[in-house]
Amino acid sequence: MTTAHPGLPPTGRPADELLAELRALTAGDLPTRGGHTTAYTYDAGRPEVREAAERAYLAMLEVNGLDPTAFPSIVALERRVVGAVAARLGGDDSTPGIFTSGGTESIMLAVKAARDIRPEIAEPEIVVPATAHAAFFKAGRYLKVKVVAVPVDPETFRAVPATMAAACTERTVLVVASAPSYAHGVVDPVAEIAAEAARRGLPCHVDACVGGWLLPWLAEAGAAVPEFDLSVPGVTSLSCDLHKFGYTPKGASVLLFRDRPMRLAAYFACAQWPGYPVVNSTVQSSKGAGPLAAAWATLQALGADGYRELGRAALTATRRLIAGIADIDGLRVLGTPDATLVAIGADDPSLDLFDLADETRAHGWFLQPQLSVAGLPASLHLTLTGVSEQGVDDLLATLRTAVPAVRERGPAAPPTELLALLDQFDLADLDDATFAALLPAAGFGPSRMAGVNRLLDALPPQLRDQLATRFLSVLYGPYLDAS
Ligand SMILES: *Cc1c(COP(=O)(O)O)cnc(C)c1O
Repeated sequence: MTTAHPGLPPTGRPADELLAELRALTAGDLPTRGGHTTAYTYDAGRPEVREAAERAYLAMLEVNGLDPTAFPSIVALERRVVGAVAARLGGDDSTPGIFTSGGTESIMLAVKAARDIRPEIAEPEIVVPATAHAAFFKAGRYLKVKVVAVPVDPETFRAVPATMAAACTERTVLVVASAPSYAHGVVDPVAEIAAEAARRGLPCHVDACVGGWLLPWLAEAGAAVPEFDLSVPGVTSLSCDLHKFGYTPKGASVLLFRDRPMRLAAYFACAQWPGYPVVNSTVQSSKGAGPLAAAWATLQALGADGYRELGRAALTATRRLIAGIADIDGLRVLGTPDATLVAIGADDPSLDLFDLADETRAHGWFLQPQLSVAGLPASLHLTLTGVSEQGVDDLLATLRTAVPAVRERGPAAPPTELLALLDQFDLADLDDATFAALLPAAGFGPSRMAGVNRLLDALPPQLRDQLATRFLSVLYGPYLDAS
């Protein structure tokens, strides 16, 4: 007699069949190649580079990064990758670093190191510009470190060094600058911020997650790039994601430190349990070596020439996009981007940007909605990469037709009944089924996110977060399947 196990076939299935199923599932995803998904994905547009990464990933598929003494290959590879990144970003062969799974993990470890190196501070704080990445808030909540978010210049969207300095107290353990910020693509005045931090004896982390492996190549392509790396006095750590402008598969970031004691404070060890003594450089313990091998292979397969060319192409695309936006009535670029990340704002209140995002998505262009916050307006985000150049004209043409159409419809009112309901009830009192039943009233549907974004935008930050996590819970539950 056999027992049925839901979700498992009674006997194993062939790989071809499984891959066909994966292909069918991913058919509904946004495209990861070709540059039409202007966030999340970074396509180098080079099949031979992708193949190198894929094969390297598979070659190391079974190696476990948990124990560097059992698998010395991961130490050798990590030293090469960290060394290459350090050499490009103001360090050298001896610069201490950690290969992590992504920007968020790099940032969490930078914050942990800054916290743990000052154990005498009972209620640690970090000072960040209001434009700093959400990962700092995540680090704050996970690590019980207070995040002091300081207003930025409302015109340039850059951090203001004097305001940052004024926010430092005897509880401050870290000061942060972005190079560039994700939301607006502008580089904070790193030199001034780091100098002010150093004057107070405080470490300064530069979040170059998106810019670390982009800005140096843009500089070589002729862009004016402000100084931001470890060569800047006072900068004590820096994060640089390779799974963004390194064009490597996801799961690849590098965290660099100016000195070894700080890196030591990022590490974790535990030899007080009956199992093997644990010593980790990262949050993860057992981990695949695939992302590390693929990152190394991608760096080697592209080489300096490859990155220089991808940087040049992304820069050209960005300049053409910015010039084109200036000619579209109703749109404007927020601030003056220093990299190839652009935030498009509305200069007409009747233009609903969230609606515009749905509209362009229906025409094959995914632009990423960004909410208004701390006095900064809502916007649509675009990250332009090495393959964006061919698409810019089509994107501008799409915007030229979409903007008047969306404007015509006028600004959609925030869903007042829902807002009233949220005002009346504690979200915690609604179960997932009830919450799911409310979503259509907010205009949520396949590829229609405007309603949800509009709702979030209308709420205060704390309620936003509650609503967003509830949305995620519903998304992973059974309640939306039927609709
Ligand atoms: C992407 C990004 C992060 C977070 O990185 P993940 O890899 O998504 O975890 C942090 N800071 C900036 C500036 C980023 O662009």
